Amino acid sequence: MKIQMPSALKKLIKSLKGRGYKAYKELQGKSFEFSPFTVCFEHVQGDPFAQPTRLSVSLDLGAVGFPAIFFDTPTRCLALEDFLLRELNRNIKTSSVRIKGTGKSGVIAVQAVGQSILCRSGARILGGKLNLIFFAGLPAGGRSILEQECLRMFEEAIQPVWAQSLLPEALNFSRIEQAIATLEDFSALQMALQENDWSAFVSNGSLLPRSGGNSDLPLEEQAVLFQAPEGLSAWVELPHAGQVQGMPVPKGINLIVGGGFHGKSALLKSIQSAIHPHVHGDGRERIATVSSAVKVRAEDGRPVQDIDLSGFMGDLPSVTSTRHFSTRSASGSTSQAVNIIEAIESGAEFLLMDEDTCATNFMIRDARMQALIHTDMEPITPFLDRAEEIHEKFGVGILLVMGGCGDYFEPASQVIAMENFLPRLVTEEAKQIVQAEPGKRVKETSQPFPTVLKRRRDLRAVDFSRGRKEIVIQTRGLSSLTLGDNEVETHYLEQLQEEGQLMVCGWILHRLKELQVDSDLSDVKGLKKIIADMETEGLASIAPYNTGLFVLPRLQEALAVLNRIR
Ligand code: ADP
Ligand code: MG
Repeated sequence: MKIQMPSALKKLIKSLKGRGYKAYKELQGKSFEFSPFTVCFEHVQGDPFAQPTRLSVSLDLGAVGFPAIFFDTPTRCLALEDFLLRELNRNIKTSSVRIKGTGKSGVIAVQAVGQSILCRSGARILGGKLNLIFFAGLPAGGRSILEQECLRMFEEAIQPVWAQSLLPEALNFSRIEQAIATLEDFSALQMALQENDWSAFVSNGSLLPRSGGNSDLPLEEQAVLFQAPEGLSAWVELPHAGQVQGMPVPKGINLIVGGGFHGKSALLKSIQSAIHPHVHGDGRERIATVSSAVKVRAEDGRPVQDIDLSGFMGDLPSVTSTRHFSTRSASGSTSQAVNIIEAIESGAEFLLMDEDTCATNFMIRDARMQALIHTDMEPITPFLDRAEEIHEKFGVGILLVMGGCGDYFEPASQVIAMENFLPRLVTEEAKQIVQAEPGKRVKETSQPFPTVLKRRRDLRAVDFSRGRKEIVIQTRGLSSLTLGDNEVETHYLEQLQEEGQLMVCGWILHRLKELQVDSDLSDVKGLKKIIADMETEGLASIAPYNTGLFVLPRLQEALAVLNRIR
């Protein structure tokens, strides 16, 4: 199939020869049959340095020869959307065509993708049609239109990328089948969690470590592949992979112990990221975690608004009551306690913590310290004394990396030791140690853990406007979200995967503020409703138009952002 640049578009571009950049605006809003694509110039940039021009591109998948089984279920649509975006990104990156011009002249792009498979507005399939957002920097020399370069960009750069990435004859169908199989297997694995009362499952052969501290790509060399330990191993049946063996994380209090550098954190991180599926070849595609799981950490400096902290904190010096606790800057232990309560509020069924990012005085208080500092002088009830209660009362599973404190052997239902990157089940040994050395520590809970209330944060005080702009929602990587003049720090929301999720969180909060005008829904209920609406009306329905850069976040992240507004 040959892609044909429409003569009307050619003619229009030629007519812009030598004119000032603003003349490109003549394209705005115009649609062209760019057979087999339909292309619309949604927004034309104002100058060569501005964000590239945004095109929407649609394609009838069946008509060009994609088998219907590639897009006949929501899961398959998601797999194909993700697959095609990756193809586009790859072919854009490897394209050697260079277009001349100033600023962003000749730049072509689509939404970027990470290692997770997520619902992204840059490519959506609806009713058998692919809807793509494509960015193109319209070429200019200085401020004068370079019409020949513009034609070249369409014919020599864009058309080949579309042909290589989106048309069946250039695609390897077996790779699409593989992408679908990977995602369907992940979905089945996540279902198996519910059926078996597991919080997570790590299949044998998974590759957990990443290539670097700030890279999400697999470690290429000398990675030890995961192998379930004797005594904590199970089989699951997946639709494509068949019988798969691995380690379930039962819904209890699970401890990961072991010496430093033996792979404890790598295991935990893989599990915390497996709330979302991973792309084929990532190494984590057969790891699944309950989708509501929340990684909890200490986050000193975060603001807190009216939370009942009394389950973890007795009366604090200078604070009247911890039943309605607020602060502009929480301490390490306080922030971690708040993060746990807010995770429960969000409906999390699984909490993960790593000693590397925990506040020690929140996690433990040993017998000697109890002897030296009387309970009356220590407002903190350590997590150690609440873990079982939280597990039972709220039905949440817990997974804890704790290489430095054996006091957790007592509440633990499973103890897994990492040794040279492989797990060994040591629950029996740990329990025997407890029997042999009972210890002198006393449990420090007087009151039962309070109910976790579904709060409602009044958003009237949050102003999304700035200057003459009515709504300003901006992201800076994953580390902050700006709403009007407010900057929300999101750096420690470890489970945010892509910037587009944070952007959508901003829009969700804008919608929540509107929703609050005539409803008294709690934050959680409001967010649930908004996210459900987005699922039926489309991800881009959250904002005035589709930027092509949105990614669906979880309720957990949206609530976490809300709770960090100052
Ligand atoms: P711990 O938390 O036990 O101190 P980490 O999980 O941080 O250990 O791992 C220590 C180092 O070993 C890291 O550089 C990590 O990338 C690497 N690593 C972790 N798991 C594996 C594995 N399965 N195979 C190879 N290297 C690994
Ligand atoms: Mg570690």
